[in-house]
Amino acid sequence: MNIELDIHTHTIVSGHAYSTIREMAKEASKKGLKLLGITEHAKGIPGTCADIYFENLRVVPREMYGVELMLGAEINILDYNGKLSLEDRIIDKLDVRIAGIHNHCYTPGTIEQNTNAVIEVIKNPKIDIISHPDDGLCPLDYDAIVQAAKKYNTLLELNNNSINPVNCRKNAIENNIHMLKLCKEYNVQIIISSDAHIDTDVGRFNLAYEILQEVHFPEELIINRSVIDFKNKIKNTRCAK
Ligand SMILES: [Zn+2]
Ligand SMILES: [Zn+2]
Repeated sequence: MNIELDIHTHTIVSGHAYSTIREMAKEASKKGLKLLGITEHAKGIPGTCADIYFENLRVVPREMYGVELMLGAEINILDYNGKLSLEDRIIDKLDVRIAGIHNHCYTPGTIEQNTNAVIEVIKNPKIDIISHPDDGLCPLDYDAIVQAAKKYNTLLELNNNSINPVNCRKNAIENNIHMLKLCKEYNVQIIISSDAHIDTDVGRFNLAYEILQEVHFPEELIINRSVIDFKNKIKNTRCAK
């Protein structure tokens, strides 16, 4: 499969990642990617940057080593109503907007509460992608999530980092398989991400590929095959809701 983009990665700015934007871009170029997303954690994760970092992203060139850059954030979902950890006026300035649940700043609730939290964010026109909706510590109703993603045109992520056995997310493999089967059934597009926290992991999708193969996931539902398709998708996502 030809993959043109990896949209979800972190640099030293996130506080627990280890490379610079230039190092990440250089690696993306080496791996043959056309587009790299840099999406630092918004506040709520210990050691990450302040809001002012996101407010000043205009100074960063949008191309390095022949790779296009999209600069954005991975924003925290804070409560069961889908409250986000970054103000709308800052989100509006970002090239790409990912939101997800992180246990540092979200208290897992019932399956209904967690599902409601994610669906409210899926409905939010400012958010393009839901990151790693796969942690068994925060159970979700996948049927409802996948149907909402279809209705509101939001991308669900298959996160290579989550399914690494050293990661502490619970039952991530089983949960992703369940989600992917539903995406296949309802014809819902997904995005695969490395969630790299160091340059060498940029464009690393090896574990994601294993799962995709296991569920015989149709290639045409993987948005990473085309930068143009990805950009159209997020444009539509923001307008359609
Ligand atoms: Zn994350
Ligand atoms: Zn991340």
